[in-house]
Amino acid sequence: MKDCFCGCGRRIPRFPLDLRGLNERGREMSDRLAWALDLNIASVPKDTEPTIHRAVEAGADRTEWMKEGFVLVAELRDAMHGVKDADSIPESPSERWQAEGQYLEFLAVSKSRLPPLSAWLKGHPEAGRELARDSSTPTRSRTPNP
Ligand SMILES: [Zn+2]
Repeated sequence: MKDCFCGCGRRIPRFPLDLRGLNERGREMSDRLAWALDLNIASVPKDTEPTIHRAVEAGADRTEWMKEGFVLVAELRDAMHGVKDADSIPESPSERWQAEGQYLEFLAVSKSRLPPLSAWLKGHPEAGRELARDSSTPTRSRTPNP
């Protein structure tokens, strides 16, 4: 894939070498996030709501997973846009996120009879791109009101 995963039309250069890999990862993650949103795998985290005890099932805290997904997708998109240095993006959080997402997909398909990501994508080919474009980079320093 040579175009930015957010659908902005930017060409992703061949060099540095890891840029297209990051772009591919961003696409996979935004697709998965869009799938989870559409099927109500988890609700969209809102800063004003308490997030503890919500949507925790089978060891997976889905709200946290959603929240982290938006952060990671926004980071990858910013890297594609040159806003962020691609070297500053570590690999392990998104790998762990993907692994957890695959587990959530397994649960959704086997227990709730929901369509797997691959099948869902056929009917929603643009959903991941739209999500990636709209994802805002959250301010990490924000603290909840006491
Ligand atoms: Zn873009």
